[in-house]
Amino acid sequence: MSSFDIIIIGAGPAGSAAAVWAAKGGARVALIDKATFPRNKLCGGLFTERSRTYYQEIFGQDFDLSRAVTRTDIAFWHDGAELAVLNDVPPLHLTMRLDLDATLFGHALAAGAVNFSGRAISQITDKSVSFKDGETLDAPILIGADGVNSIVAKHLFGSAFDTQTIGFGLEIEVPSETQAPEQHPLRIDFGVATWGYGWSFPKRHSTTVGVGGLRAPNPDMKGHMRRYVETLGLDPDAIKFKGHHLPFGDFRPTPGRANILLAGDAAGLVDPITGEGIAFAMKSGQIAAQSALDALAANAPDTALVRHQKGLREIHKNLRIARTLRRIIFAPRWQGTFTRTFRRSGTVRVMYMRLLAGELEYPELARSVLARLPRYLLNRFRT
Ligand SMILES: Cc1cc2nc3c(=O)[nH]c(=O)nc-3n(C[C@H](O)[C@H](O)[C@H](O)COP(=O)(O)OP(=O)(O)OC[C@H]3O[C@@H](n4cnc5c(N)ncnc54)[C@H](O)[C@@H]3O)c2cc1C
Repeated sequence: MSSFDIIIIGAGPAGSAAAVWAAKGGARVALIDKATFPRNKLCGGLFTERSRTYYQEIFGQDFDLSRAVTRTDIAFWHDGAELAVLNDVPPLHLTMRLDLDATLFGHALAAGAVNFSGRAISQITDKSVSFKDGETLDAPILIGADGVNSIVAKHLFGSAFDTQTIGFGLEIEVPSETQAPEQHPLRIDFGVATWGYGWSFPKRHSTTVGVGGLRAPNPDMKGHMRRYVETLGLDPDAIKFKGHHLPFGDFRPTPGRANILLAGDAAGLVDPITGEGIAFAMKSGQIAAQSALDALAANAPDTALVRHQKGLREIHKNLRIARTLRRIIFAPRWQGTFTRTFRRSGTVRVMYMRLLAGELEYPELARSVLARLPRYLLNRFRT
């Protein structure tokens, strides 16, 4: 049995951020992942300025933009028709998760976390983790950063998420060796899926094309994806789609129990409008790690959850407001009003862009929406 101060399960953005922060804070950290790095993760890879700010704060350096494609222009479409092309929008950085996550994991090891990647877990108790090869680690605090299918959440609550209430996304990587990324439009398509959207994100050597939204109202997500791919001039029969759940606004109000904390997707911290999850994953990993450090310093590991919950208050507040606002964007009976308003109103377009780029917080957006609600309602009845 090897003993640590904190065991972190999952080494994606949430787990690696937690590991860096905890190790820098002086804790003995075990970082477990079933995969070995570099490993892929189905994701658009949009790394916003919000992500960049958190990255700087947690990892202590600026994000290396030379490995991303940075765009300040974007096209919006609805139902196959162009709604608007915006130039000079806040920078949007497009990354490959294979590369991004390997970098984050590397930072965690460099900070002193002990590497338990490529290890399959056989059992979790409240204070230990056992591997299939028989080795057991123990620690007074556990952090579950193991994504949407979290086995730590299963240990705590019997299941991770109800797949009917969360989101699901399908993606493909279209190689683009012959063209520079600048020649590919960065594009968002509303109306491609119900309560969701389609995206086409140019990368250095490919374009990530995807469709995502709430799972329950989209029983035929594959059909939506096929049609979207065809709209983009690609042959759906020539491509195999990959799918992954995302906790699209279904966050856990109680993210753990006593000395066990959940972070990132395991805690449901995905923006219910934009689908952004990398930023909140890193931030919640940092918050979990700080809560663990404080609880250990107070010699009271069981107080970690109370501290974590307090630290997550701002994120939870944003997600609650976003969940309310998404009705007037995505609900089928509001889609026409939203797209009409989006086409006509520069202010709405700028607000949406600032949101997508991670520049705008939801309380500010809610105030603007309330002020514009009468005009928005009027638009509903215009043709
Ligand atoms: C189709 C799609 C597109 C998306 N696009 C974007 C986007 O463009 N921008 C954005 O910000 N967000 C996007 N997201 C959301 C984003 O991918 C997630 O919010 C983010 O990856 C969450 O990070 P995490 O560290 O919590 O979990 P993950 O990144 O899922 O990492 C979890 C880690 O835990 C490990 N793990 C899982 N189970 C176990 C186990 N049993 N034992 C040990 N290890 C385990 C996994 O191997 C993995 O390394 C998208 C999601 C989807 C599905």
